Amino acid sequence: YDYDLLVVGSANADLVIGVERRPAAGETVLGSDLAVHPGGKGANQAVAAARLGARTALLARVGDDAHGRLLLDSQRAAGVDTAGVLTGGAPTGVALITVDPSGDNSIVVSPGANGRLTPADVRAASGLLHASRVVSAQLEIPLETVVAVAAGLGPDSRFVLNPSPPRPLPAVLLAACDPLIVNEHEAKVLLGEAGGAASGPEDWARLLLAKGPRSVVVTLGAEGALVASADGGVQHVDSVKVDAVDTTGAGDSFTAALAWRLGTGASLAEAAAYAARVGAVSVTRRGAQESFPTAEEVDALGGAGRRADDASGTS
Ligand code: ATP
Repeated sequence: YDYDLLVVGSANADLVIGVERRPAAGETVLGSDLAVHPGGKGANQAVAAARLGARTALLARVGDDAHGRLLLDSQRAAGVDTAGVLTGGAPTGVALITVDPSGDNSIVVSPGANGRLTPADVRAASGLLHASRVVSAQLEIPLETVVAVAAGLGPDSRFVLNPSPPRPLPAVLLAACDPLIVNEHEAKVLLGEAGGAASGPEDWARLLLAKGPRSVVVTLGAEGALVASADGGVQHVDSVKVDAVDTTGAGDSFTAALAWRLGTGASLAEAAAYAARVGAVSVTRRGAQESFPTAEEVDALGGAGRRADDASGTS
């Protein structure tokens, strides 16, 4: 394989303005200077994996504009191969974010070029898919494009899906996931009424597994994660105790790290334990891509929760 991980997904410019108070309908408020950050779940996951040392490629679409160039620059600076990034068709995706002093925010997303990444684009990138040991996707691009990714994998490639933002998934897509990675909100949306009746995260993991994926990971923020598979049952993976300052991007760094480690032959519990360490470092720093650690920084993380091979079975 040429690549340990191919990320297929979104690339957004995050345009952030601090405000004293978020505006009501019809109201204008003055804010801070504009800050522009590279973001989007696809771009974030690719940067996170490359920074850890994974040979990483990104398949995405950006506009032929300054935001697109910003995104390409940040990918290349992290060491991501951007030959698969397509340009044009619409402006680069943008997230307009206002943040008040308490940290609460209001966000408007314009998918732009992300919405123009098509199944035909994926089929044209077949060589890239076949050259990648693990392929990960999220749902900030059209669902039919993600379905085309799952259908276009190499014979021994592994598919990892973080269904964010969540929506009902076709059975053919669920069946390809190994694992399906969800947080609590995504688990509830995917499970619908059954999720509301479930007794908690372990039940969600079992119910999601019954929908067809080969394995499931439920992330639980500071509580760590659950991993579930037909042969391994449901296991809890501890988080690492840290002083969290900003959880932005924790899920993206966790997913990228997990996907990469699975490709190196780690078990699901081992890969999740490593990913939990990556997520823990990222919450100790502000921002998304800026907060993602190198492998050395992950190794240097003191204290450490239990190692993956100590992960306690809960069923
Ligand atoms: P995001 O905030 O990026 O949307 P998410 O909801 O997708 O995140 P989380 O469950 O919040 O995902 O975090 C992913 C993983 O990162 C967790 O499973 C955990 O291992 C680690 N993590 C997140 N928050 C903390 C924390 N406060 N302390 C330690 N580890 C954390």
